Amino acid sequence: MSRPSSLRSEPAGPDSRPPAQVAPLTQYVLKLVSRCDLACDHCYVYEHPDQSWRRQPRMMSPATVRAAAERIAEHAAAHRLDVLRVVLHGGEPLLAGPARLDATATTLRRVIGPVARLDLRMQSNGVLLTPTICDVLVAHDVKVGISLDGDRAANDRHRRHANGASSHHQVLRALSLLRSPAYRTSYAGILCTVDLANDPIRVYEALLAEEPPHIDFLLPHANWDSPPGRPDGHPTPYADWLLAVHERWLADGRPVPIRLLESLLASASGHGSRSEAVGLGPADLVVVETDGSFEQVDTLKSAFDGAAATGLDVFRHRVDDAAAHPGIAVRQTGLAGLCDACRACPVVGHCGGGLYTHRYRARNGFDNPSVYCPDLLKLVRVVTAAPVADGPAQPTDSLSPRVLDDLASGPGTAGSAAQLAAVHLALVRALLVTLSERAAGDPVAADGWRLLVHLDDAHPDAVGAVLTHPFVRRWVRRCRDGAAELSYLACVAAAAAVRARVRVDLPVPVRDGLVSLPTLGALAVGFERGVVRLGTDDGDIRLADRRITADPGHGGDPAREDGSDGWLPVRAVRPGGDRLLLEDTDPHRDCFDLPVQPRLSGAAALGWTRQLDQAVRRIDTEATDYAAGIRTLLRAVVPLRAEPTGRFRSAAAGVAFGAVAVTPVPDDATLAVLLVHEVQHLKLSAVLDVCDLFDRADTRTLRVPWRDDPRPVEGVLHGVYAHLAVADVWRRRPGPAAEGHFRRYRAWTEGALDALLGLDALTATGERFVQGMRATVDGWE
Ligand code: SF4
Ligand code: SF4
Repeated sequence: MSRPSSLRSEPAGPDSRPPAQVAPLTQYVLKLVSRCDLACDHCYVYEHPDQSWRRQPRMMSPATVRAAAERIAEHAAAHRLDVLRVVLHGGEPLLAGPARLDATATTLRRVIGPVARLDLRMQSNGVLLTPTICDVLVAHDVKVGISLDGDRAANDRHRRHANGASSHHQVLRALSLLRSPAYRTSYAGILCTVDLANDPIRVYEALLAEEPPHIDFLLPHANWDSPPGRPDGHPTPYADWLLAVHERWLADGRPVPIRLLESLLASASGHGSRSEAVGLGPADLVVVETDGSFEQVDTLKSAFDGAAATGLDVFRHRVDDAAAHPGIAVRQTGLAGLCDACRACPVVGHCGGGLYTHRYRARNGFDNPSVYCPDLLKLVRVVTAAPVADGPAQPTDSLSPRVLDDLASGPGTAGSAAQLAAVHLALVRALLVTLSERAAGDPVAADGWRLLVHLDDAHPDAVGAVLTHPFVRRWVRRCRDGAAELSYLACVAAAAAVRARVRVDLPVPVRDGLVSLPTLGALAVGFERGVVRLGTDDGDIRLADRRITADPGHGGDPAREDGSDGWLPVRAVRPGGDRLLLEDTDPHRDCFDLPVQPRLSGAAALGWTRQLDQAVRRIDTEATDYAAGIRTLLRAVVPLRAEPTGRFRSAAAGVAFGAVAVTPVPDDATLAVLLVHEVQHLKLSAVLDVCDLFDRADTRTLRVPWRDDPRPVEGVLHGVYAHLAVADVWRRRPGPAAEGHFRRYRAWTEGALDALLGLDALTATGERFVQGMRATVDGWE
């Protein structure tokens, strides 16, 4: 960081001329003191990667205060700002003492006051607040926010002195002073950092008891390299914590403004956000450090050492120069300053991509959604009652190390599989949202989109059931690439309407003589191509004078031959209750590089469904650990044509997540192995959707024992993950043949694991994942 060589204010030289236009800055954080009398372990100033406070003078000198005030006044005059805010900050600003505080406030008001109305504030831990200081604050109309994390137990969790002693009683004393009539005008509110270990209602009640004019909840500082803790892999614990407060707050009649919630409500009613944590309003803020250097918002200190530095200072540079700094300017560009995923996100107007700091990832800087994206999405939806159909804009990188470890073991629990399913659904929603603009201009898709949005609000389960269908994801991907028709969106919506049992009437496309309704089946209409009006009513489908019972809850009887009504229902099997589709009608099912079978006869379908039923039940009993993943993730099985060689083939494709394709096999035992094998591929595909396990730029290949051709790292990872599971299945089966299979697959797995670990192409997460597999294999007898 550049430091001033002199305390004298020098005129800005020709090199530091501001650009022709900068957005003015109206908020200034003055770091009056760079040290603190507390040692909170969640402090972004002292406990996070940026340690620049060590290089700062302990206090801001009067000359620096004056220089800062002059720069602010100069900026306010140049941009004709009516009002601006200065926050005295630290470390702990009360360490400056009453005389220095008095002098600072005097200078600021004297220099800035004639130019603009000055909203002067202070953020403090309150420990050193005294009546004498309160007199100074009231005299200069300084409003003080106090940091308090809840009741004593909650506050003591982090906010302690260096010797471990509690600060709680001192903070309460400060709040009691500020509540007193003499000082009440200087009481701005309470700032509380969320900690999941604290009960939200107890925290809320403890804060409310201090009668604050405002409450502000902060999410703990985190980023993609240092993500927030998510106990048990729960995807939205922070949203749930805040929503518990929200619910109680509403029930109490909103007795105090809670800035985060008020901001979301304001954005929902078309007003600007009042918090930089959410919304698209410009974050027009700059920090002045104790040595006079300009810095970006200081929560960036949680990202990396020097993250907030600009190389500018109040002695040599104007505020315009700081405002033009890319790191400050980008935060004023609203939507344009966000990553692609946020820009495409339908709740971006409310969320705004979250706090800038929370978007950081070493690999690509701030070009990411917030690391709290799933929480923000849920919070926005509930607080603003935003339509669920808008959905998240991108898959959420929400697999905690614990979930990854669990999946690395091979089978993974039902909870981990459910997380993968959630990631898949989020991805499909995100992809769909990217089509919404085009859909609005398409005569058939437009009605479908409107219907889907409505249904998602009123019948989210029905929409979810259709969107999780494997081939909806494939269609939407192809549609984005221009390889599939947008009008199919109407079919997706119509299928959801049937499932929701609502009455609608909308145009749908006919292709190859069929109207296809994903998850339900297809309706033959008697002509090859065009558009028909389709009605839905209480689970039935109406087309002209035909009325067909789609029976969305059960699917067609496998043995029933297709009749004269033209309805080709998807056949389903329900092994132990879960519904597994035998897909031979979906027009987007041909994605496996192997030829799929056409519509099956009733007799053939009955054979397939019986075998599937037995295979899944077999997995339940003989490969128990894998049953949860299969039941949670496997949605459809696609019959492939038999190979002329008689070889049994199976396939899975990440683009059709939830589907497995297989050729006819002789028995359920063979089918069970193939299903376990392919579902492993699905699981790993879902992991790779949101986690970097290897360096994707590394094009090296590896030789593996199960193929003749060298394989890229991703291919080896897939192979090893699948073969580990297959080995595990054979390990549990009795008999010498099974023993032989087990040894072979185990050897393949071990060899490839060693090769992967020796290639140096894995990320740290990937290394951990592969080591997890290794530990499983090593644990086998
Ligand atoms: S009181 Fe504030 S500045 Fe001081 S250690 Fe705690 S969080 Fe950091
Ligand atoms: S993608 Fe996530 S972080 Fe970005 S605006 Fe949407 S909810 Fe917010």
